[in-house]
Amino acid sequence: MEVKSKDLWVFIETKEDGSAKKVGLELLSPGKDMAGKQGGSLTAIIIGNHVTPAIEAVSAHGADKIIVVEGEEYQDYSTDAYTAAIEQLVKKYGPTSMLIGATNNGRDLGPRIACRLKTGLTADCTSLDIDEQTGNVAWTRPAFGGNLMATIMCPDHRPQLGTVRPGVFKMPDEAISHAEIIRENIHIPKSDIRTQILELIKEMDGETIDLEGAQIIVSGGRGVKGPEGFAPIKALAEVLGATVGASRAAVDAGWISHPHQVGQTGKTVGPKLYIACGISGAIQHLAGMSSSDVVIAINKDPDAPIFGVADYGIVGDLFEVLPVLTEEIRKA
Ligand code: FAD
Repeated sequence: MEVKSKDLWVFIETKEDGSAKKVGLELLSPGKDMAGKQGGSLTAIIIGNHVTPAIEAVSAHGADKIIVVEGEEYQDYSTDAYTAAIEQLVKKYGPTSMLIGATNNGRDLGPRIACRLKTGLTADCTSLDIDEQTGNVAWTRPAFGGNLMATIMCPDHRPQLGTVRPGVFKMPDEAISHAEIIRENIHIPKSDIRTQILELIKEMDGETIDLEGAQIIVSGGRGVKGPEGFAPIKALAEVLGATVGASRAAVDAGWISHPHQVGQTGKTVGPKLYIACGISGAIQHLAGMSSSDVVIAINKDPDAPIFGVADYGIVGDLFEVLPVLTEEIRKA
């Protein structure tokens, strides 16, 4: 695919109400940095129906340009419609690279676009860098069960594509907007859209957990010893206004449901405060929470690896420590 500019693109996934999903706004941070290093602009791509809230948010978070494609066919995510629209945009503007959030839809869309444009894609990245001379992106992601971090490059094809895990980057601060807004009138014939949304079912068990957007998370691991062991975790979470997370060991044991899982095969989170209770700190767990601003670990083993990433550690029994902590915070 011919490169026609030094612009770097970020795909902004939208919600039903036309607002931007958080991961798209987060990707504006590395996008800005990388676009600057290669001397280009940061361009956000917004596709949807009635997406004014997303345009306003993206504009306020520092995009230089916003390309907007609106239409009824984009109201709900559809692989065919979104792929066809992005293919047309890429052929017209020829960006160097494109970042996509590794959400369910992003994980579906990224490979489709890569295949259509005959380029490469690195999935599920957790860090990014760019070579200023060549514009080659260094996409880094966990490999071999999270035991090593692989850096993957795609030097011979453009655009370079990657999906990036939610929660890895911090959203840029809001500023006065100077974004140039470009509207593209792309409509995909109904006959080209092979799937139709009949009904949207929110969550299988009715549980909605916004771990990725949480500011404070209190997580429990195998150390809680059973489903009832999550009671002191939930009590602390309640007084802090926090969301409850868990290690895979606790989820696999059936003590708490999978939407709570933090880590390589769970959610990647980046809260202001992460409290790990009875969690050893396996590399697969750390992969999902190490970008937290402040980590507090409560573990009775002073040699637990979690203390290696913790800012504050309490060596002790969580069943003794948590009630005291909760009570003190409640009194404060
Ligand atoms: P353990 O490692 O058993 O640690 C329990 C800790 O609790 C110990 O440190 C112990 O000292 C402490 N403890 C016990 N009792 C108490 C008490 N009363 N008070 C205080 N502390 C106590 N793991 C994830 O978490 N998320 C993932 O997404 C994930 N993905 C994986 C993907 C792959 C491919 C693989 C191979 C593994 C993955 N794992 C993941 C599993 C991971 O390797 C660990 O097995 C898991 O994180 C361990 O969970 P844990 O820390 O709760 O349990």
